[in-house]
Amino acid sequence: MNIEGLKISVIGGGIGGLAAALALRTRGADVTVFEQAPALTEVGAGLQISANGIAVLRALNVVGDVPEDGQLSHGTVLRDYRKGRVISRIPPPMAGPTYYYHRADLLELLHRAALEAGVDIRLGARVVQVLNHPAEAELLLDSGERLRSECAIAADGGRSAVRPILNGAEAPRFTHQIAWRATIPWSKREQTPRASLTMGPGRHVVTYPLRDQRLMNLVAIEERSDWQDEGWRLQGDPDDLRARFSDFGGPVREIMSDVNEVHLWALFLRPLAQNWQNGRLALLGDAAHPTLPFMAQGACLALEDAWVLAKSFEDQSGVAQALAAYETRRRLRAKRVVQAAGANARNFHLRGPMRLAAQMALKAIGPRLSRKYEWIYAYDATA
Ligand SMILES: Cc1cc2nc3c(=O)[nH]c(=O)nc-3n(C[C@H](O)[C@H](O)[C@H](O)COP(=O)(O)OP(=O)(O)OC[C@H]3O[C@@H](n4cnc5c(N)ncnc54)[C@H](O)[C@@H]3O)c2cc1C
Repeated sequence: MNIEGLKISVIGGGIGGLAAALALRTRGADVTVFEQAPALTEVGAGLQISANGIAVLRALNVVGDVPEDGQLSHGTVLRDYRKGRVISRIPPPMAGPTYYYHRADLLELLHRAALEAGVDIRLGARVVQVLNHPAEAELLLDSGERLRSECAIAADGGRSAVRPILNGAEAPRFTHQIAWRATIPWSKREQTPRASLTMGPGRHVVTYPLRDQRLMNLVAIEERSDWQDEGWRLQGDPDDLRARFSDFGGPVREIMSDVNEVHLWALFLRPLAQNWQNGRLALLGDAAHPTLPFMAQGACLALEDAWVLAKSFEDQSGVAQALAAYETRRRLRAKRVVQAAGANARNFHLRGPMRLAAQMALKAIGPRLSRKYEWIYAYDATA
């Protein structure tokens, strides 16, 4: 179907929403993004975008052949927590390099590309109701304004308010994992910009360089039971972080000593949505398939969704058919990646003899480990 002039609303101006808006606009649709935040800002934090995500960014002309604003990855060093002993070195995937982005930079690239393509982006516009009529979607904004479009895409994140319209109410599950996130100056660190994954009992720490090696991104994951709210962007206490990881030696201890500001995320999860679409309404990104961050694939999956969604209109006769084809094309892939991330939640946090056995295995297969996930990285949604 030709989507020239088709009126499409996108709810959410995150990575998934902006990429979907751009992909649809590039095919001629008349796209408006509704983002509740008054500005597209992000707390200081990084994102790993592997080859499968980069393929979509390239196809959308958001980045060039060499993604300028990203920092090229040189692989990952696996370490034990006590003294930071190197267990193994994982080379970059064969499918193509990963790039590290400051979230704010990637959002800005997508935002600029979407505006240049002619997407209408409305900030400070929170969608409070969506009605899925037979031939159109109707949105109600918090300002009281009502809008109609021929299709609505909900890219409103893991706490999607639109998802219950298609799936009923679902209580989120607390995964008993807390993510601490900080960025610090890179200055003193090793010259080769490698990511590092340091594993300890019930905890792990990931670090990687950002912005031309001027910053280091730190994500420290901790198993915890004392959390009540599905809240975001909580300000944390750097001394509390250091205390909770005080038995981590080596580079992690040194890096944590530089943390002056830190934020906390409690990792809540909903299952893969049973229904991604119906009639004129579809879910995309975390709204459809929230994932633990332990494969670093949530944003990459959202980018893939965006491309496949727009492409699905090409060989279908109507909006509802295109949205159904999009779900069919994406469901299994998203499910497999989400499962792989869930498995890593266990693998990274092993205790006692299990941890030692896993380390020996990692030492032996580490250099070949990225091959295990080649099916993730080598997938090219744009091919
Ligand atoms: C600790 C951590 C590390 C991660 N690291 C990586 C990584 O390295 N690589 C990777 O690929 N992924 C990573 N992820 C996952 C990634 O951040 C998410 O999967 C991705 O941001 C999802 O994008 P999205 O557009 O679907 O949703 P979001 O980024 O959540 O965007 C949703 C947008 O919708 C807006 N919104 C919500 N409700 C409304 C409403 N009613 N009206 C209007 N606007 C609304 C929100 O304000 C927001 O801007 C990580 C996640 C975590 C927690």
